[in-house]
Amino acid sequence: MFKTKQETYPLIALRDTVIFPYQVTPLSVARPRSVKALEEAINKNRLVVFVAQKEPSKENPGPSDLYGMGCLSQIQQINKRPDGSIQILVEGIARAKILDYLQEEPYFKAKIQEIIESPTSDVEVEGLMRTVLSQFRQYIELSKITLPLEVLMNLFNIRDPNRVADLCVSNLDLETKDRQAVLETVDTKERLIKASSILARETKVLQLGKKIQTKAEEELGKMQKEVILREQLKAIQKELGMDEEGEYGELAKKIEQVGMPAEIKSKALKELDRLKKMPPFSPEIPYIKNYLDWLVELPWSKKSENKIDIKKSEKILEEDHYGLQKVKERIVEYLAVNKLAGKIRGPILCFVGPPGTGKTSIGKSIARAMGRKFVRMSLGGIRDEAEIRGHRRTYVGALPGRIIQGIKNAGTKNPVFMLDEIDKVGADFRGDPASALLEALDPEQNYAFSDHYLEVPFDLSEVMFITTANITDTIPPALLDRMEIIPFPGYTEEEKFHIGKKYLIPKQIQAHGLKENQLVFTDSTIKDIITQYTKEAGVRELERQIASIARKVAKQVAEGAKKKFVIKNKDIHKYLGAPKYRLTVAEKKDEIGLATGLAVTEAGGEVLFIESTLMPGKGKLILTGHLGEVMKESAQAAVSYARTIAKELDVKNNFYDKNDIHIHVPAGAIPKDGPSAGIAMATSVVSALTKVPVKREVGMTGEITLRGRVLEIGGVKEKVLAAHRAGVKEVILPKDNKKDLEDVPKHIKKDLKFYFVEHMNEVLALALKFPHKKSGLDDYKKFLAKQLLLSQHVPLSQ
Ligand code: ADP
Repeated sequence: MFKTKQETYPLIALRDTVIFPYQVTPLSVARPRSVKALEEAINKNRLVVFVAQKEPSKENPGPSDLYGMGCLSQIQQINKRPDGSIQILVEGIARAKILDYLQEEPYFKAKIQEIIESPTSDVEVEGLMRTVLSQFRQYIELSKITLPLEVLMNLFNIRDPNRVADLCVSNLDLETKDRQAVLETVDTKERLIKASSILARETKVLQLGKKIQTKAEEELGKMQKEVILREQLKAIQKELGMDEEGEYGELAKKIEQVGMPAEIKSKALKELDRLKKMPPFSPEIPYIKNYLDWLVELPWSKKSENKIDIKKSEKILEEDHYGLQKVKERIVEYLAVNKLAGKIRGPILCFVGPPGTGKTSIGKSIARAMGRKFVRMSLGGIRDEAEIRGHRRTYVGALPGRIIQGIKNAGTKNPVFMLDEIDKVGADFRGDPASALLEALDPEQNYAFSDHYLEVPFDLSEVMFITTANITDTIPPALLDRMEIIPFPGYTEEEKFHIGKKYLIPKQIQAHGLKENQLVFTDSTIKDIITQYTKEAGVRELERQIASIARKVAKQVAEGAKKKFVIKNKDIHKYLGAPKYRLTVAEKKDEIGLATGLAVTEAGGEVLFIESTLMPGKGKLILTGHLGEVMKESAQAAVSYARTIAKELDVKNNFYDKNDIHIHVPAGAIPKDGPSAGIAMATSVVSALTKVPVKREVGMTGEITLRGRVLEIGGVKEKVLAAHRAGVKEVILPKDNKKDLEDVPKHIKKDLKFYFVEHMNEVLALALKFPHKKSGLDDYKKFLAKQLLLSQHVPLSQ
């Protein structure tokens, strides 16, 4: 219940205080307008209206910056300060709704409506009032604030519900916004409800804060307790004459036992000492412990006995591998030299060949033959020197490099250590891994290999390093220089058959827990799997297919099948699905612009069907298929050659101005490089220009010069094997490569017809399929035929 009364009073804006009726508050007044308003009030009846600002930072607020409800108050005391500000004590009288501002300067004068409240009481209000009071008491208890005595007295005596909410809220530590909301609530009940909800919220916040604090205190208590208990434990152990070193005793023992060189041992002991002196919860402890763990786990003096029996080694190599005669011979020689020298001597061996050609498995056999441990570490994708040499200990999560990690895995200081994919090591701003590798591999300097993490040198001189790579082109030259390349060129189908039958099938039968006679493959099944389900230089895919059949058979055996499984040709489909590779040369058509090139990629020897096409344009050369720089240049040379013979080809000299040439080499995702596809690209472009198809069964490889000379290339064996696999009938090779055919097995040579050429004219004469009927190319055809005759090849076929 309330009445209202309209009056005019001076008004003072407050930055962040809200005055409530009946509340006595000290204030400091300093702003000129406020001081003037104060003087005016004192001159009259000491009454003034206080209103809070919406934005406390505003220095000169206007009417719109002030809330619409203030408090009419009486000034009780005044105290002028030397700095010009005035201290006053005011007591709120009643809520004052601001109706209108009559003036803003020199001070605010406003017309207000004074809200005069009279006590109300009903059961609901009484209930609300008691709730608010009890909430307030709870709040005081939790917050431990000390209230002035008079406020406390009031709290117990107060009976006017209008005052209860105001009194409680004005004594809470609240934001201006919240206080103002209560001031603006004129209705008694609503005001009590609002106060109650604010109190509930504040109490909750306090409770939460308290909970967190208790938890933190508990944690701290636990830690202190642990420290004390540990100290006590130490004292008790000392008293009982037990291991004084406590938990570090174990480490100390290991440092003594692992046989470290003296200076490293003293370094380890120093670190251990540092560790012991550290306060129990020092963040450095785990780092030092980790470091010491590495030191004690490295095989400083542990090694396998050095016994090389040449006869036995030969037997082991023979036992584990089919074929690979040259490789085996070289390895036996290598072992013999090492036996005589009594230590690792000579260059580092580098096994180069496509995946699945037995590089890893020969490495394992070498370890077996020498009675040493075998470890393998891949270097693929390494660009950071720290991967080889480790990170300094100051890095978070630092570890030794891969060399030291490998040695730890081996557990001896003289393992056979295979470093895979040395051709995939790169260099960038993080240093050059190749030079770190050199230091590790070079017998001249690796007796004291320094790893950044270890900080102490490790002797690698007794490790036998073997590296592997798919191709030699990308091996860093400094490394290549120190290594002896041992090629693993890939297997013929015949060899694959024997490897499959004698090695892979027995191995998989055993690996799948089957008995020898439970699973049998007929010879022709093995051959079909090789030709129809694999397309590779090695035997990895073949092994996978055999494993896949063995798995399915093992499943049936496990389910109770008792029979003997004989896999015949007709069963392959059931186990492996439809044949994957059938598309051989024979199944393609002779096409315009499609030449059969032979190349060596990372996957080994391959047949590449090189396509060229001509389209209206402006003489651009488009090259696609993931070609390397050398191959791109070779394509340009091929096109330039085609341009120089444009006249003979009966194509317009200026064809190049009006057309774009696009050369594509599938499969587009496999990186290819090297000059050896030169003649195939030239043939494909000439075919596209003349519209004469290329014979698909003629495979070709050779580098081309601008004048059409054909130069020697590498990888003849791999290429010939791939051509044979793909069903190529005739192979064109550079004349200088004739000698390389020696390496190709006889039965393969028997199936193929070879042409050794010196000039592009011969290539075109052999590969292009000229039409029977008369055409504009007849003269050129005759010219080529003559060239062939001159070079003593067969006459030009139709
Ligand atoms: P790489 O290391 O060259 O990629 P792997 O050594 O891993 O190849 O050979 C793949 C699989 O083929 C292995 O199971 C290996 O034993 C087998 N293998 C490869 N070549 C031969 C071979 N000449 N005789 C017997 N098994 C071989």
